[in-house]
Amino acid sequence: MRSTGLYYSPQFLLHEAPGHPEAPARLTAAWALLEQHGLLLDLALCQPAPADLAVVEQVHAAHYIRSVRALAADGGGWVDSDTFVSPASFDAAVLAAGAAVDATAAVLAGRQRNAFVLVRPPGHHAVRDRAMGFCLFNNVAVAAQWAVKAGGAQRVLIVDFDVHHGNGTQDIFYERADVCFFSIHQFPLYPGTGRLAETGGGAGAGTTANVPLPPGCGNHEYLRAFDEILIPLARRWRPDLILVSAGYDAHWRDPLANMRLTVEGYAALVDCLCALAAELCAGRLVMMLEGGYNLDAIAAAAVASAQVLADQPPVGDPYGQPPPHPLSPRAEQVLAAARQQWDL
Ligand SMILES: [Zn+2]
Repeated sequence: MRSTGLYYSPQFLLHEAPGHPEAPARLTAAWALLEQHGLLLDLALCQPAPADLAVVEQVHAAHYIRSVRALAADGGGWVDSDTFVSPASFDAAVLAAGAAVDATAAVLAGRQRNAFVLVRPPGHHAVRDRAMGFCLFNNVAVAAQWAVKAGGAQRVLIVDFDVHHGNGTQDIFYERADVCFFSIHQFPLYPGTGRLAETGGGAGAGTTANVPLPPGCGNHEYLRAFDEILIPLARRWRPDLILVSAGYDAHWRDPLANMRLTVEGYAALVDCLCALAAELCAGRLVMMLEGGYNLDAIAAAAVASAQVLADQPPVGDPYGQPPPHPLSPRAEQVLAAARQQWDL
């Protein structure tokens, strides 16, 4: 049977600013847990190659790419109040984009049945000509663009379950019919976009869907949103590849947000995505890491995701269950409004 690919490089650890929550330890924690569970033997471990800059330029402005390279060469600095470039960041970011493209190519060509891309810096906030929100190059966007321009895909669906709205990805493909975007996120929260009414424009009208949930939502609300909104929309869009911006910062112990997902909840979401990919596109599914800032939670949730991709029982949550919390009437309203918006 074809295997699940795991894309990783120690070079991703070299992008670093002391004290920043988007830290190398996020990857080393996940790697240590993968090792502990013997998963490194079961997954096809792949060393990614840096993305061809011409491929990155399909998504990002050439002057912006040059500016990141120049800042790194000059010793680095801050591009906004929360996004840094260190001397190794340009190479790490080009390698992260390359890992996303390599995994996508392997899955599209049928060499691997699905893949998990364990990378940083993350990508989903980066827009065409600007870094944002810890993100330099938009890995998932570079992979989606490559898939439709060079990989033979007709239509790609990007599912973003990071707790923050994937504004960069939405922006890049807002007027495109060949790349559909679904984001479920806490709202209001950084970056402030991702309202229900943002549904795409021009040729891309109706190919962007947002589910902006109030703080306090957990496994139940996320799974309902997948069942009631994502799955029927994906059937309508009929992608031949599904890419996932997998952020684990909706976990209840995450320090940067206020959602209540558990590791079991993440595993259930991935299970649902695997079933959707099996139904719509021969199982072609590539997940790539975005956020997640509690080290134990991100490690367990990333490992559980890779295990579900590889048809193995997922690890449990190191923190157990969150304290009980009433279902939010506001969440019910958002789901009802989304069903109405999309005529579901
Ligand atoms: Zn995030």
